[in-house]
Amino acid sequence: MISFLQKILLTLFILLPASPALRAAGQRGVGQDALLARRVPPARYQKTENDLLVVFLDVGQGNAVLIVSPEGKTLLYDAGGTPEWMGSSWDPGARVIVPYLDELEINELDYMLMSHSHSDHIGGMPAILNNFKVKTFLDPGFDPDSGLYADLLNLVRARGSDYMVIREGDGHKIDLGKSVKVEIFSPPADFYFRGTNSDSNNNSVLMKVICGDVSFLLTGDLEERGELYAARKYRSQLASNILQVGHHGSATSSSKPFLEQVLPEVALIPVGDRNTFGHPRAEALNRIESVGAEIYRTDYDGHVLVYTDGKTFVVETER
Ligand SMILES: [Zn+2]
Repeated sequence: MISFLQKILLTLFILLPASPALRAAGQRGVGQDALLARRVPPARYQKTENDLLVVFLDVGQGNAVLIVSPEGKTLLYDAGGTPEWMGSSWDPGARVIVPYLDELEINELDYMLMSHSHSDHIGGMPAILNNFKVKTFLDPGFDPDSGLYADLLNLVRARGSDYMVIREGDGHKIDLGKSVKVEIFSPPADFYFRGTNSDSNNNSVLMKVICGDVSFLLTGDLEERGELYAARKYRSQLASNILQVGHHGSATSSSKPFLEQVLPEVALIPVGDRNTFGHPRAEALNRIESVGAEIYRTDYDGHVLVYTDGKTFVVETER
């Protein structure tokens, strides 16, 4: 059981260094502790001067992460989208992200970054480009001739955004203000992964966002091959408080050697309710829990907001 003091601190929405009981709250339906950890108010963004805000948006089966720096700089990492083969016309860009940005009174984005070219990451981007000025568009530059990717780049050009390929070592090219630092670990600077389980996934942009002592690691749909490359080369430089779990919690991501370098306190899984892929997979969940991370999921939690002043961080969920 958790202590009375911990209950009070949870009520204040302060994320504690998790006790075993709180770690268990990362699972659904495990009793009072889980309920207590989840009962936070609906997400309302009340920005304070020194906060970095990172929002893991609930876009169904897809990925979209909004970053707003203390200096007011904005970066949207992926924009959700419905897999083409599902034949659905539901557009999370238009239905979720555009209204969300409006609510935050954000009327232009400094950056929009595509982790990789799959439709559940870029399908929502045309709506963003058509509704907001996007100053700079960033992508990993892997096989840009495929249909949806090529169409998107045409729209980026037509809308007048600057364009930059972003790979290992290019973090300094992203300016989110003086209090935030960006590092890019992958795709590798001098080659792309080929012949893997999914080359597009493995060439996802692996990006760390650092604000003081608090850091976030965004992975897109990075799978084991890309994870092992980064884990071997960068080791504890990958260490991050908050991890966006790769490939929606697929069994082919969240490899043990990678997680043992990242050692996240919070693991965020961007995943759609009752998705047909069976994401997240039990194998991945077990590995994530074995490094002691508390798991949040957009299918259960809705939008998940993390605020940090660079010293501590607070997690709020929509549901
Ligand atoms: Zn995906």
